[in-house]
Amino acid sequence: MALPRSQARGWVKAAKMAQRRRRAEDAGGPNTQSPAPGSRRAALYVHWPYCEKRCSYCNFNKYIPRGVDEAALRRCLVTEAQTLLRLSGVRRVESVFFGGGTPSLASPHTVAAVLEAVAQATHLPADSEVTLEANPTSASGSRLAAFGAAGVNRLSIGLQSLDDAELQLLGRTHSARDALQTLAEAQRLFPGRVSVDLMLGLPAQQVGPWLRQLQELLRCCDDHVSLYQLSLERGTTLFTQVQQGALPAPDPELAAEMYQEGRAVLREAGFRQYEVSNFARNGALSTHNWTYWQCGQYLGVGPGAHGRFIPQGAGGHTREARIQTLEPDSWMKEVMLFGHGTRRRIPLSELELLEEVLAMGLRTDVGITHQHWQQFEPQLTLWDLFGASKEVKELQEQGLLLLDHRGLRCSWEGLAVLDSLLLSLLSRLQEAWQQRTPSSVPRG
Ligand code: SF4
Repeated sequence: MALPRSQARGWVKAAKMAQRRRRAEDAGGPNTQSPAPGSRRAALYVHWPYCEKRCSYCNFNKYIPRGVDEAALRRCLVTEAQTLLRLSGVRRVESVFFGGGTPSLASPHTVAAVLEAVAQATHLPADSEVTLEANPTSASGSRLAAFGAAGVNRLSIGLQSLDDAELQLLGRTHSARDALQTLAEAQRLFPGRVSVDLMLGLPAQQVGPWLRQLQELLRCCDDHVSLYQLSLERGTTLFTQVQQGALPAPDPELAAEMYQEGRAVLREAGFRQYEVSNFARNGALSTHNWTYWQCGQYLGVGPGAHGRFIPQGAGGHTREARIQTLEPDSWMKEVMLFGHGTRRRIPLSELELLEEVLAMGLRTDVGITHQHWQQFEPQLTLWDLFGASKEVKELQEQGLLLLDHRGLRCSWEGLAVLDSLLLSLLSRLQEAWQQRTPSSVPRG
């Protein structure tokens, strides 16, 4: 099933040469042209479901294993990738993202096997972005080098904080020192291709000390930073601690202040805020995530993974949300029986797709260009939808939104309050959709 070793080595070698070439020529991030809705291109997400330990705030689909049969899991990931590529009819995979869970706990051999299967089933260009999420404690220099040899060319490090007390509160397995060491090793191995996550809005966290952490990070980080606000999720240890009064509830106003100050600091340091939570300089935007925000197709492989694609290879014409079975053992049984562990397929209506185009596109600084919108909805233009809207005019007057010859997008100020803008914009879209005249009802 896998590529002959020589062919697989060929792909990794070509990928490395292309990566070097791209570094030398780097002109400014991913191709921001949006893929046509029914195109045969896609991004591929691979979910590794295991972690060493449960972080106190985490409600992701992850499991603490009592022994993983990695060879069996690897076979299932490969099989499901092959099946979904066939069902989708995708001819070109533009990026691969190994997320989790903690995919840096997987063996580099597993990563290589999935990449080999993808390269065999479809076109995986040599300069495709291949990202691995890494936790500092499971990402020593030698492991990172082995992931590089397996075909990974970008790392996303779950650093979260540079304060040991905060890391303990979050239940992380690493210290600030581990985080900085991993960051240094990652940059040595993947220069210009390392992203770090930093959290804000923790219980009792104050603006000044958090900003000092960000400044410290800026002295040693690479070209990509993600800022995430802690979200207190029911069922997590942190939620219970706050409920029981053992910890103060996070203060949303302080979190908003950290976010505002943090994005200003990053801008000052030459980072472009290209998405609500993501900042890059030297064009180091994440190609993979850009596909999500542009509503491109993506396949989700692994327990609980989500995908969005038109199953053209199986004669489908409608984009579907596809959700894989959550629990790893059940998922593996299904993959062994049916070739995939898809638990739910939800066809998306035209309106639902447009709502996603709007909500996802406005997360980026580019917003939604007229050309991009037209690929999804050729009848109702952005001008038809929003040009005469009183609410949109008000948002423009407040300096939060722009509608012009380029398209619809948030201003710098608007990006920080996107959720409140979306309420008006989505309800305007829904209203216009109901009022379409018969001649504007698109293709059947
Ligand atoms: S490492 Fe990530 S996925 Fe695993 S428990 Fe912690 S936050 Fe959750």
